[in-house]
Amino acid sequence: MPRLLDYPSQCAELEKMARLEPRPPATAEPAGLAPASPTATCLVCGISPARVCLGCDGVAYCGDDHRRLDLRWHAPVCPALRAIADDLAHLRERPRERLEAALLARARRSPAVPAGWDDWLGPDLSPAERRCLSDLATRPLTLAHLLTLLSDHVLKDTSRPTAIHVIAAAQRERDVSPGLWLELERLFPGRRFAFTLIGPELAADDLGPAVRVVPGLYRRAQWSELGRPDLVIGYDCGLLLYPSWKPTMHDLRGSGVPFAITSYRGWEAAGEARVLRAIGAEPLLPPCPNPFASLSARRSTTVANDFARDNAFVSAWR
Ligand SMILES: [Zn+2]
Ligand SMILES: [Zn+2]
Repeated sequence: MPRLLDYPSQCAELEKMARLEPRPPATAEPAGLAPASPTATCLVCGISPARVCLGCDGVAYCGDDHRRLDLRWHAPVCPALRAIADDLAHLRERPRERLEAALLARARRSPAVPAGWDDWLGPDLSPAERRCLSDLATRPLTLAHLLTLLSDHVLKDTSRPTAIHVIAAAQRERDVSPGLWLELERLFPGRRFAFTLIGPELAADDLGPAVRVVPGLYRRAQWSELGRPDLVIGYDCGLLLYPSWKPTMHDLRGSGVPFAITSYRGWEAAGEARVLRAIGAEPLLPPCPNPFASLSARRSTTVANDFARDNAFVSAWR
């Protein structure tokens, strides 16, 4: 697990990201600090005891001087860090199966592919419940959204299941239950789906007849064994971070099979698009915000005042 960078390095990272994608300014007055706690350490100088921010319970400072020093970075993200803490508490109190049952009950009120979370989840949810349900369903719903946008390119043949290869699949994809993946069959009546999750961290352990799990890095050579997919998708696969993607992307471009990727941030999606164009991939859908991005954010493990949302941007290629 990566650890928090030292404070000057965190600030350098935040400066770099602010140049790429300016962050909206803080909307609320900065919160005060709790009494000093021996289990808290100052974000800026590392001293303990320290006083936790009352706004988010997510960072602590030795006192007002260091709180003020960090205000530029902390104030804009304090409400989002509060929401992250609330979501984690919400999840701790509710078994995943119960949340999923609530989600599917709501989903079944929506007969067609929805335009956004409001259509699918309805307006009458607590903010934490809404964010947590969106996080459970972001992968299948992002896929449904892409299938709608790419309907001209993904096989229309309904005599056999539409084959979806989920590449760079990891625990977060493994955690999506077959019932949620198969929600697509309700949203696209008359069509059946076959999902294959492929990723180096996965153990071969199929999740039922419609969801296969295959360990390993994804290569086109596997099509002889797995079958040719109708669509390949990589959720937040980090094309810019992992050099092991290069051969996979070379395999896919020009193969005739459309492939889609999602990204945490706009600048990441733009950088990935440059890489894909450079190897000759043709855009079917240029990077754009995803209406089915998770509403539940995830904290950075290296920068205290940073967070991202799964599947925030989508793009598709061939
Ligand atoms: Zn300090
Ligand atoms: Zn705070």
